[in-house]
Amino acid sequence: MDDFSRRGFCKNVLAIPLIVSSSVVLGKCSNNRKDAESSLKLSDSELMTSYSEKGESTVKKVGIIICDRWNTCAGGKCLRSLRNREGAFERYKDEEVELVGYTTCGGCPGGNVEYAPEEMKKNGAEIVHLATGFVVGYPPCPYIEHFSKFIPEKYDMEVVIGTHPIPEKYYITHQNLKTWEDPEWKEFLKETLTDRETRLKYN
Ligand code: SF4
Repeated sequence: MDDFSRRGFCKNVLAIPLIVSSSVVLGKCSNNRKDAESSLKLSDSELMTSYSEKGESTVKKVGIIICDRWNTCAGGKCLRSLRNREGAFERYKDEEVELVGYTTCGGCPGGNVEYAPEEMKKNGAEIVHLATGFVVGYPPCPYIEHFSKFIPEKYDMEVVIGTHPIPEKYYITHQNLKTWEDPEWKEFLKETLTDRETRLKYN
């Protein structure tokens, strides 16, 4: 068994070179040459905003770790909210974002969290998002607090709890179960609670 297999994570890790921009319009066609030229110039100048004066890339690179109970998830809600800058991705509303890693925790107790951030960091990730499934599962992940301390300590990366807005159906059930009454939950939910209208869009 090779080192990656022993760690049990390599096959789960996907490097997705997905740049999600709210300012650059891709695939827009024009029959008018002037329109096309000005559109190109605009795109060039907008793209320049992705670089600082020193010429360093300012694209925010992020990785996502999902709860393994949804290990076949295709990432539909996470990617939609990243594109729309909703939920925990609202923080990037004025920035370019590149998703450089996407994987599962590897199953309870989340052994892949020990290694996956390292691969994400090698792809330039500064921030790891623990997907919204960590907080909405039945039960929620019991290791959220540990992971959110471990990753910064071991890899010097920021952790954000959540990805897409909490779907309304999960919100209602957890409210009825009083799952999120402990004070710590206020911090865990602050990026993804959003509002009812937004939660409904992710039902
Ligand atoms: S509950 Fe936590 S440790 Fe268990 S599979 Fe989900 S994210 Fe991983």
